[in-house]
Amino acid sequence: MEFSISRLKIKWKIFIFLLGFCALLLLILWLFQTVFLDFFYRSIKVAELKNNTKTIANNISDENLSDLITNISQNSDVCIEVIVNGESNYSSDVLRECVIHKMSVADKMTFISNARENGGEFSEYIKHPAPPRPTRNNDFDNRLGKMNTPATQSLIYVKLIQDGSNTAILMNTVITPVNATITTLRYQLYFITLLMLLLAALLALIIAKRVSRPIEEINKSAKLLAGGKYDIRFNGKGYLEIGELSDTLNTAASELSKVEALRRELMANISHDLRTPLSLIYSYAEMMRDFPDEITPDQTLIIMEETQRLATLVNDVLDLSKLETGMDELNISRFNITQSIKITTERVAELVKKDGYRIYFDYGEEASVDADEVKIIQVYYNLLINSINYTGDDKTIRVRQIITGGEILIEVSDTGEGINSESLPYIWDRYYKVDKNHKRGVTGTGLGLSIVKRIIERHGGSYGVKTNLGHGSTFWFSLRRGT
Ligand code: ADP
Repeated sequence: MEFSISRLKIKWKIFIFLLGFCALLLLILWLFQTVFLDFFYRSIKVAELKNNTKTIANNISDENLSDLITNISQNSDVCIEVIVNGESNYSSDVLRECVIHKMSVADKMTFISNARENGGEFSEYIKHPAPPRPTRNNDFDNRLGKMNTPATQSLIYVKLIQDGSNTAILMNTVITPVNATITTLRYQLYFITLLMLLLAALLALIIAKRVSRPIEEINKSAKLLAGGKYDIRFNGKGYLEIGELSDTLNTAASELSKVEALRRELMANISHDLRTPLSLIYSYAEMMRDFPDEITPDQTLIIMEETQRLATLVNDVLDLSKLETGMDELNISRFNITQSIKITTERVAELVKKDGYRIYFDYGEEASVDADEVKIIQVYYNLLINSINYTGDDKTIRVRQIITGGEILIEVSDTGEGINSESLPYIWDRYYKVDKNHKRGVTGTGLGLSIVKRIIERHGGSYGVKTNLGHGSTFWFSLRRGT
């Protein structure tokens, strides 16, 4: 419900904005085409008159002045009279209802003196009654006839030439009332308004659809994602933001699917890893209850070992989750890493000696690091135990400390089968085991290397593995030497 209202909002907002824009355009059009039309028309006429008088004034001494006047008069539908010292010098009469050609000399002189008082020019509108319909069947007169409505006006314009020659240019043009034109335009505007409103509505719908459809699609996919369909793909196209949004959602979906896959694997692994020792413990305990006289130390040992395994698993899970949530604070201090590794190696070597394992530790000078000693030793221990578990039949493990520049590198090499290249990228993932059926009774939680990875990453160090199928692996990590 919430969503559909906001989706409507997008559509309607665009619609309203577009309509508003159209209304504004129409208003401007209405204003200019109806309200201001008369004003514009008159301004253009006046400008035209002024321009024409200017041309005549500039050519007043030209020998072709008479032709020029006739030309102007015919092209612009104006009557022109040039008066020098009260005498009509040139005259062109093209208008049937011309006022200047009908007025008396005294009237003309009044106009001229008005112009003189007015700084050299003067204009006046004169209303005149409509003359009879033209009798001559002549196009020009016909056109004039149409303009002869009762409200027709003449615009008289007088310009004095300020060169001491006492010359005045008189012009007369007809101002046709624009009412008829306005009526026509108004009808046109009704149609334009209707058409624009329809177009705006259509455009708004199209735009709104284009904008909202990708969002709708993304929302549909997002609902599926929320419902647990993590392999969903978002295909938001159309514009940049939607493209980016769907990229982000695709990343989120793929992360979620990874988490989901991991969760399933984790559940499967944990339940498997818990169930096996538990059922062993249960069977042996049952056996001990049923046959108390036949209890052997081996049976108790199995129960102890399995309990130990469970404890390790639980600890590993706890360690990793603490590391991953960042809840486990690093306890950084300066310690002699060479000594710590040496002691751990000796302890482990002592423990596995009885099974024929030999562990060598080569190091040059002793070195210190600023790190969490317990955690770094946990890293080393995990690598060492893995090497013991996976080393070859010679049961040999070589540990090396190499100091290069400011770095201390610890390498743990075994002579086992190595790791195939398909598995290599995944061994650092939680619960990943190359061979699900461990050989030689190797039991692993699949967490050891991910704990290594987290701890070294949190120390800002590096880690890795060099492996050679059939010839063993060398797991390594490096830390900055304490200065
Ligand atoms: P596990 O508890 O199973 O050893 P790890 O996270 O320590 O879990 O290791 C992940 C997987 O990497 C192991 O199951 C194993 O297949 C592989 N692996 C780790 N160390 C070695 C090694 N030294 N030689 C060969 N394979 C190894």
